[in-house]
This record gives sequence, C-alpha cells and structure tokens, in this order.
Amino acid sequence: MKLHEYQAKEMFRKFGLPVPNGIVAEPGDDELIEMVELELSGPPWVVKAQIHAGGRGKGGGVKVVNSLDDVKVAAETIFSKPLVTKQTGPEGKKVTRILVEEGVEIDRELYLAMVIDRATAKPVMIFSQAGGMDIEEVAEKTPEKVLNVAIPPDVGWTSYLARSLIYQLDPIPERSIKKGLVSVMGKLYKAFMSLDCSLAEINPLVITKNGDVLAVDAKITIDDNALFRQKRVYALDDPLEKDPLELEAEKYNLNYIRLDGNIGAMVNGAGLAMATMDVIKMAGAEPANFLDVGGGADEDMIGKGFEIILRDDKVKAVLINIFGGILRCDVLAKGVAAAAKKVDVKVPIIIRLEGTNMEEGRRILDESAMEFLVAKDMVDAADLVTQQVS
Ligand code: GDP
Ligand code: MN
Repeated sequence: MKLHEYQAKEMFRKFGLPVPNGIVAEPGDDELIEMVELELSGPPWVVKAQIHAGGRGKGGGVKVVNSLDDVKVAAETIFSKPLVTKQTGPEGKKVTRILVEEGVEIDRELYLAMVIDRATAKPVMIFSQAGGMDIEEVAEKTPEKVLNVAIPPDVGWTSYLARSLIYQLDPIPERSIKKGLVSVMGKLYKAFMSLDCSLAEINPLVITKNGDVLAVDAKITIDDNALFRQKRVYALDDPLEKDPLELEAEKYNLNYIRLDGNIGAMVNGAGLAMATMDVIKMAGAEPANFLDVGGGADEDMIGKGFEIILRDDKVKAVLINIFGGILRCDVLAKGVAAAAKKVDVKVPIIIRLEGTNMEEGRRILDESAMEFLVAKDMVDAADLVTQQVS
C-alpha cells in the first residue's frame, strides 16, 4: 500500500524526521491562501500535487512560488488537468489534493532510502550524494554514485553504518550536518522497521543553505502482508488512487488484479490461476486479469468475481477454470448461474470443471440460462477461449 507524500511526512514527523511545515488542500478550498499566510513562513512556498506517482517535479506537479497570488495560480493550474509524469502513463492522474509547504533554499540534494533486499533477505539503506530529480539516470549511468549497506537484522542500524556512508560524501559536510545526517538515517531506519515498510524514500534529502538537513520529499510503501498489524496506517489508504474494479474485488476478499489482455479468467487457487495465465499465453492470447477466488469462496464471492470480470470492457471471452477441492464445483456453478441471471453475459464463456461434485456443478450450469462451452482439460480450455477472440 502506498502513502501520499503528505501522509508519509506525517509519519516521518512522528518518528522525529525533519520535514517542512505544510498544509493539505483540495480544489475550491477558499481558505487556502489565508492559511498559508497565517501558518507557513515564506515566501518561498512549494505547491505539490499529491498523487501516487513520482516524477512530479518534471511533469509540472511541483511549483516553487514567491507570492501568495502565485500559490493560488499554482494550485489552480495543478488541479486543472490530469498530471502526466514518467510514472503515470500518458493519460496521467487526476489531482485531488495538493500539499503547500514552506520552501527552502537548497544547498545540496542527497538521496536516502530503505528497501528490503530480497536476495539477501536484509533491509538495505541506500544513499547517494547525487539526489534529486535525476536519480534514475544517476543509478543507470553512474551506479558507483549510489551507495548501499545491508543492515544485519540481529544488530540493526548503527551509527557506524551511518558514518560509512556519510564519509563518502564529497565534500564531507561540516560536523553539525554530519550529525543531522546520522540522526536522519537512524530515524528513517526506525520508521521503516516500525511501519513494516517495503520502501521508505527521501529524495531529495536536502542540506539547506542554513545548514539544516530536511526531508523535502517523502515516499512510503507499506508491505501489504503487514497491514493487519498496521491498522492506523491502513486507515490512510486512498481509494481514489485505485482501479475501481480492484477496489470492488477487495471488498469481497477476492484476489483480483487487472491486466492488459482480453481473456477474463476465474480460477481457484493462486497456483492454478498462474498456470491458467500461462496456458492462455501459450495458446496465443493475453489474460485480462488474475482472479483467485480462493478455497473458501462462497456463492456470493463467486458471483461477484464473475460480475467484476464481465464489467471490464476489455474482456472479450471468459475462461472459468476450477479444480474443485475445498471449493466444490456445485458451489461454483450456483454462484456463476446466479450472477449470469443478474448481468447480461455478452461474451463467450468457456468452462473447465473438475473435482468435488463436478457432476452436480455441470448439471446446475446446464440448467442455467447461460450459454457456455465445456472444455475437456486446461489446455483445451485455453485453446477454445483463444479461438473466441482471434
Ligand atoms: P518528485 O519530482 O515527484 O520526486 O517531487 P519532489 O518533491 O522531489 O520535488 C521535485 C523537486 O522540486 C525537488 O527535487 C527539488 O529540486 C524541488 N523542490 C522541492 N521543494 C523545494 C523547495 O522547498 N525549494 C526549492 N528551491 N526546490 C524545491
Ligand atoms: Mn522526489
């Protein structure tokens, strides 16, 4: 789960990380300018689009301004159209919130982040003196400028590790700044571990002309598997940033991920779902989604899953591939039949049904009003469904 910059900064504040003062606003917020004047020192101020995508600076989503009038103009401009950045795709993202902050005079822009390195199964601190908007290019062309240290899980972060990074800066900053950096690294580590992050990134981590160290940007991604113990963070989840069908599926506990192809697939079990996507591709077509209804699915969940697949306009044929074990074939059939009654099924349906109560499941489907083709096995199912779209 991703957090917005303003939410990530709120978290950072709780862990004592230095972030600029700021105000969050929505379109048509009449009091914004008054609040900026009263609550934020400045000029300059920085007006920042709040979307779950990076590269905002280069896309026009971050504006440094020097008058209250310009705060207003910048806010209106940012709200006026979808923001297109390298990470949003060409259609861009609608901006529903902005963050207005006290601007700072930047002396140096550094990069600091933490991730989990899956290869070594350790948290890693990443640090670079070439922070800012071109960090991707720096990493690609001059990877030696991006430093990283693995953190021994049994020891945790130590100021020794911090110094091993900071002393590679060129020039090495003065003592008080070094102290500031050591402190920021320690606090970022605490935040990362306590919040079960998969990513915590500060780019740029700024050294100001006054010699302060400040997190000018903030990005946090929480490991979804830890959300059960991060309830407070989970409450910050922004539904506006999600695919509407995925959001609907989440409500019904369905593991549904939308993809780019045109074959809808409903499957039980993540392994079978992946294998189904493979055979669809091998048959020459592309899956429109991943959907694992899971072992414990009931009729309602099955019906909802089927409906969600059909609501995707891209879907031109659907493959239902069920190996009835814990999920019995008759339960599946009832769910599909009930959903088919509710929604108008306009695309061909291919069904491969095996396992517990298979006969009963087939009977229920035969007696339903829905038309469908029955496949002998999985490969046959993939071939049949592919023929429907080619
Ligand atoms: P991103 O492009 O989405 O990563 O957005 P950032 O929050 O990193 O902002 C982009 C760039 O705007 C930063 O790299 C800075 O160079 C610049 N910027 C952000 N805040 C300030 C500020 O307070 N003062 C100045 N001078 N520049 C800023
Ligand atoms: Mn940034």
